[in-house]
Amino acid sequence: MKRLILFLSLASCSHPDTICGQYLDTSQSDWLTVADLQQAETEFIGAALLVAGDTRLSAPHNACKWLQNLRVLPMATPTFRDQWGRQVAGIAIPAKDWSLTQHSPGGFVQIGLAPSWKSSALVHEFIHIVQGGIPPPPCASTDDSHCGWHRPGGEYALVDAISR
Ligand SMILES: [Zn+2]
Repeated sequence: MKRLILFLSLASCSHPDTICGQYLDTSQSDWLTVADLQQAETEFIGAALLVAGDTRLSAPHNACKWLQNLRVLPMATPTFRDQWGRQVAGIAIPAKDWSLTQHSPGGFVQIGLAPSWKSSALVHEFIHIVQGGIPPPPCASTDDSHCGWHRPGGEYALVDAISR
């Protein structure tokens, strides 16, 4: 029986839910579907190509690879308490071995309940995952992770274009 359980868990790990390789975790809530996640990914990858000032997002085939192995966990309430005790609508945690010198794809995104993925924090958190939480130059790596996002054609413009 133990062997069977191990096999099943390996099987579920080896098959991502999206083209870029994301995994949807419906253990808390199922308001976000695999179809939703795929649509969000496709629209995000397309819109990221148009972002001005951060080639991590706009270089062809770049954003997709950072979403590989990303685990997306939709929550049952609009806001939730994160691991630092803050009440938030979404959070992105880059892969555990990510650093400024050793970039690794994947990580973990938690998003609060929303009427649809478009009005959720999902795309906002995708951006944090691609940037590893480090804002684009000329911001310093020690700045707020949203530094510069308001520039024309920047990250907030991407979120607005998709949310419409
Ligand atoms: Zn943010």
